[in-house]
Amino acid sequence: MKLDRRIFLGAAAATVGTGLVGPARVADGLPRLLVDHMLLRPGRYLRAAGYDAAIAPHGTPLNDLIEQGLDEDRIIVSSREKLEQVRAGQGRAVLIAGKNLPDIAAELTQALGVNWQHAPLSRCLDCNVAVEEVDAATWGHRVNIGDLAVAGMLPLTHCGACDSVYWRGGHALEMQARLASWSAGQFV
Ligand SMILES: [Zn+2]
Repeated sequence: MKLDRRIFLGAAAATVGTGLVGPARVADGLPRLLVDHMLLRPGRYLRAAGYDAAIAPHGTPLNDLIEQGLDEDRIIVSSREKLEQVRAGQGRAVLIAGKNLPDIAAELTQALGVNWQHAPLSRCLDCNVAVEEVDAATWGHRVNIGDLAVAGMLPLTHCGACDSVYWRGGHALEMQARLASWSAGQFV
């Protein structure tokens, strides 16, 4: 993997090789991202790590993707090679070459310094908004709380946008384990 895979659009090009600095950083130091739909699964992992990662709808034209990145001050993550040819405004982008999840995670780590353990499972994977830990006594009717407690699958979290209640089931634990591996530099 080479640092020159990381593409900056426009004036920010001078920062190549020195880490991401500039307007797309937010107060807590995490970049806000706009992930191309073809990278949906890595995008969901970025959410699982606690990143604000918007995911563009399937079929979004490249120009619209770039416009949205600029409008919302997000770093674009895409594997469309045309992106490299685009020079527009002050937006920035990361061009991903990898085809599988571990390789893409490694690229994201190198390009953006992703902290995969920033805030594990703190966002709704579908809505990209923060979930809130909720009281099992109040929310337990939505799930079989007794079984979950026995299986160690608590706490419950709730998404205010889509009303989903999440617990730490097999899928969540699998994601959590992968985030921990990536955080340790083991891309599996
Ligand atoms: Zn949601």
